Amino acid sequence: MHISNERYFDDRQRHDLALRMIRHEARTCTIRMCTGLTDDRIRRLYQTYATNMPAMPLRRHRGKSPRQIAFFTRNPRIQFEASLLASMFTAFGLLEPDLRETPNPLCYGALFCDAYETHLQLSGSSGMSFEHAWFLLHLLMRNTGLGTLRCRQCGGHFLHDRTTVVKRACPGCKLKTIRRRPRRKLAERARRSRDALGLPIPPATVPAARLEA
Ligand SMILES: [Zn+2]
Repeated sequence: MHISNERYFDDRQRHDLALRMIRHEARTCTIRMCTGLTDDRIRRLYQTYATNMPAMPLRRHRGKSPRQIAFFTRNPRIQFEASLLASMFTAFGLLEPDLRETPNPLCYGALFCDAYETHLQLSGSSGMSFEHAWFLLHLLMRNTGLGTLRCRQCGGHFLHDRTTVVKRACPGCKLKTIRRRPRRKLAERARRSRDALGLPIPPATVPAARLEA
């Protein structure tokens, strides 16, 4: 059977992107949308990956895709991460009108992987799953649910939930405040636990100089 070079490279690109998305635990429907591969081929790729990479176990996500807009503002860490990811989408041109109106699914999927992987490296966190990132991109593309605000304190831009009247502060400033007082908070929590259990103050809290005297 003769297979043209063009067809071979096209097929190879689809498989490479599908494997890349499988590594990020993307859902079958998302992989199908970007690669055009059938569910059956994607399932077989999953099996091949699982057999050849036993050291990297994968979870296959089933059920409904993420739909909760409130997820992106549920705490300062996630809100900060979502804001960072949104700026990454802009930097990679994923929100450009030209690209949005005539997207080549294969190129768009690869560009999305580039942006998501860069985000993981820069944030050093995996709090935002691939599917949540994909959902975030589509919310921003449709300009629904989420908006951008500028913080008066630090001048940074951050995402906020337009579907709720609850106003959350800038996540960057909030995280800075949280980081400044972790010891005080922990000490207070320990004191409350001791009081609740009626325990005496541990000897370690008495300064060493006083013990020697
Ligand atoms: Zn701020």
